[in-house]
Amino acid sequence: MRTKTFINHPKNPVIMDKCSSCKKNVANKKGVARFMCPKCGKQEIIRCPECRKIAAKYKCPECNFTGPN
Ligand SMILES: [Zn+2]
Ligand SMILES: [Zn+2]
Repeated sequence: MRTKTFINHPKNPVIMDKCSSCKKNVANKKGVARFMCPKCGKQEIIRCPECRKIAAKYKCPECNFTGPN
């Protein structure tokens, strides 16, 4: 028998529906790219269609990784 434990992580990544580059709300947008940070894999990177088009840079808040890919 295993007991379920609920631990509150103070650094729980907050899921936001905001573009990682321009910070615009992308909640109801089409063509939004979402992926985990290629470096640390802890933060979800969100890119709106506009930023993908102009290849705007994004920065991971966890490890400061920047990139267009
Ligand atoms: Zn954007
Ligand atoms: Zn990262």
